[in-house]
Amino acid sequence: MPDARNAPRMPDTERARMPDTEKAAQLSLFDPHPAVTAAALAPSGQAAPGAPALRRPEVRKAPVDPVFLAWRVREDPFPGASTLQELQQQMAGCRRCVLHEHRTTVVFGEGNPNARLMLVGEGPGANEDATGRPFVGAAGQLLDRILWAAGFARDEVYIANVVKCRPPGNRLPEPSEAAACFPCLLTQMRLIKPSLVVCLGALATQTLVDSRARITKVRGEWYEKAGMRILPTFHPAALLRDPSKKKPVWEDFKKVREAHDLGYAHQDGEPVSR
Ligand code: SF4
Repeated sequence: MPDARNAPRMPDTERARMPDTEKAAQLSLFDPHPAVTAAALAPSGQAAPGAPALRRPEVRKAPVDPVFLAWRVREDPFPGASTLQELQQQMAGCRRCVLHEHRTTVVFGEGNPNARLMLVGEGPGANEDATGRPFVGAAGQLLDRILWAAGFARDEVYIANVVKCRPPGNRLPEPSEAAACFPCLLTQMRLIKPSLVVCLGALATQTLVDSRARITKVRGEWYEKAGMRILPTFHPAALLRDPSKKKPVWEDFKKVREAHDLGYAHQDGEPVSR
């Protein structure tokens, strides 16, 4: 049995709904970050005693590609969309790439429209295509566990994918498909203005950080781009295939927790200096 004092922070209602076996399984998967544990122990509204001092992470400048630059000077691909709902309506019948031929639903994304933390995956799978919601299959359930252990409620963050339509056979999206859908992702980011972004997997990393990036090399590093701090990590599906990746991913989410607690704000306006 895990020590109850090590329970990470999560909404009381959500935690209350979980059976004890599920709580134990989650705790055994991921060792809660000390800051999360201390916050869980602190009386509401008070500073957490015993919480470790937060250290500002080292942040690297990611290459600024033309698409991001265009976005910053407000060459908005969806100028009529002033809310996520309006953008979602515009994307509902999208045929910008061949992925529209096989989809059931455009899986737009979901979560807090004012989220400080945004997670970006690769593309919808069968469960997502059927439900219209991102990350609801086995990988999504694992992501929920990781978020929970890091002290984030799912409805506190925003979750989206690089491509919004399911690639046939769950193949990786082609570069041309990622490029076709990229303006939608950028517009989601423009509207949400997340201060922290986690790239789940290689495609999201190559789309948002650097097209030449290798996930095994850049994972766990913070990058600064377009007013956001972006951290690449492995995709939850990779953890299901290779459980040895759970530990590094958990280390990465501890960094996300710390950065979130430091209160880094989205730097809107001027381009990020290089
Ligand atoms: S993947 Fe994106 S660009 Fe391609 S059809 Fe779907 S919504 Fe449109």
